Amino acid sequence: MPITGSCLCGSVQFEIDRAQASSEICHCVRCQKKSGATALTMITAKASEYRLNKGADQIRKYSAPILNNPPAYKSYFCGSCGSPVPGLEPSQDFVEIPAGLFDNDPGVQPDKHIFVDFMPTWNVIRDNLPQFDLRKLIKHRFGSELPSNYAAKAHDGLPRKI
Ligand SMILES: [Zn+2]
Ligand SMILES: [Zn+2]
Repeated sequence: MPITGSCLCGSVQFEIDRAQASSEICHCVRCQKKSGATALTMITAKASEYRLNKGADQIRKYSAPILNNPPAYKSYFCGSCGSPVPGLEPSQDFVEIPAGLFDNDPGVQPDKHIFVDFMPTWNVIRDNLPQFDLRKLIKHRFGSELPSNYAAKAHDGLPRKI
């Protein structure tokens, strides 16, 4: 049975056959702004296992200014209710889906926190999932080290000491 999801007003409806095993809770500032929440849990599905069933004409897209390297951080949202919705470009093999959109259990749970160095001080993680700051995440994903004087940029492009 497909796993279905929808936006707040129901204009945008989609389904996936299955979710990929790895799911992340992102604490980057852009995900905070996009979701309006403390963090954004993203579930990934293969593009070939994702179907937009309704509302293609409702989906709006915002591309944020590039902070470091392309591609730009993109935000897809419903033009009627403003909920973030999945966005899939023809070049993508995978689609990222904000977990709160699912109407039933996607069958996976988050396995880590990422970009924890961008969390506001009042947000405290109370679970035991692994936590990755930018430096640790780069190492984990690409096996490379950031220079010791590297200054990350937040959503506004201003440098942030990490
Ligand atoms: Zn909507
Ligand atoms: Zn993020």
